[in-house]
Amino acid sequence: MEKICIVHYGEIGVKGKNREFFERKLVENIRRFAKAKRRFGYIEVEYREEVEEKLKKVPGIRYFGVGFRTELDIEEIKSAALRVLPEKFESFRISASRRNKNFPMNSMELNRIVGSFVVEKTGKKVKLENPDVTIWIEIGNEALVYSQRFEGIGGLPVGVAGKVVSLISGGIDSPVASFLAMKRGCEVVAVHFFNKTLHSPEVRKKIVTLAKKLSEYQGELKLYMVPFEDVQMEIIRIVPPKLRMVVYRRSMMRMANFIAEKEKAKAIVTGDNISQVASQTLDNLNVIYSASRLAVLAPLLGFDKEEIISLARKIGTYEISILPYEDCCSLMIAKHPETRARKEIVEEFEEFEELEKNAVEKAEVFEIRC
Ligand code: ATP
Ligand code: MG
Repeated sequence: MEKICIVHYGEIGVKGKNREFFERKLVENIRRFAKAKRRFGYIEVEYREEVEEKLKKVPGIRYFGVGFRTELDIEEIKSAALRVLPEKFESFRISASRRNKNFPMNSMELNRIVGSFVVEKTGKKVKLENPDVTIWIEIGNEALVYSQRFEGIGGLPVGVAGKVVSLISGGIDSPVASFLAMKRGCEVVAVHFFNKTLHSPEVRKKIVTLAKKLSEYQGELKLYMVPFEDVQMEIIRIVPPKLRMVVYRRSMMRMANFIAEKEKAKAIVTGDNISQVASQTLDNLNVIYSASRLAVLAPLLGFDKEEIISLARKIGTYEISILPYEDCCSLMIAKHPETRARKEIVEEFEEFEELEKNAVEKAEVFEIRC
């Protein structure tokens, strides 16, 4: 018997016609780091310690077990049940489920039969509430037996929804927004705008480190580092301080759209969170988003700051995000930026298209692999 990971997907199990496409995508994503095979009702993945850690980060996986696949034979199932037991434990329970109704025993019978067998062989006791160990038995086209079960991150496999361009600042919010887009099946291309004259190499490293962390959820991630200084200097020259923030963000939107065109991406993702800062009033967001040809998605829409922080900690971006960093958006802006920008007024100042195109052309592109 060979130790395997038994991967269960959540939502994708119920998506009708798309189901096969989603499953194949999930298998493809897992194959970046491990041998994987689509089976009836689950995905079988080779077991290695590193594989276990990686599966915890693959969008589309609801949970997975580590154990054995056996024939549909009660003696085999019993011996697998013994093999999945840890060295030390006092109490256990069996939790059987039967998808294949042709198997002669129902789940209650399996619980009883395998349970008594384990008691007989080990002398340990059955405890239904809070046992030290649970042995799961799943009866499908074959039997699956495991005692270790790990939560996945859920959601949908990366790639099923298409590509998005995600605007990453050095802050806490936008990496979380990128992660949430991945979790809904989007393949993320990350874009960061920086002002060379303002930033040390440390800052670049910070963004690359963030991107690297995010790539763990996607397998690999493309990052555009776009030099913003020429556009920014022109904005500072022309636009009054009160409006600069909104104009910076509109300019970033337009450049993100150029990149989306190159990448065949279908939407722009930001870490905006309504009313958090001056640039995020509904009036300003309207003006900022209207600079985008593509739909702008803001996955943090309904989150409180505490919720964003707790998710950032969970996905491992928080510690990187809090490293000191001066975002170019805060350069030379009014102390109290406009909170009710108007598109007609802002547009009057905007003649930056050539500079914007040049900036995108000059972008450094990293292909980051986790
Ligand atoms: P964050 O924590 O993500 O920085 P924030 O609450 O600080 O967000 P803003 O600084 O107004 O809010 O930025 C709003 C969004 O604009 C960011 O979440 C990000 O998507 C985008 N953005 C801001 N600055 C940059 C930048 N330099 N490069 C790329 N995107 C940026
Ligand atoms: Mg910010």
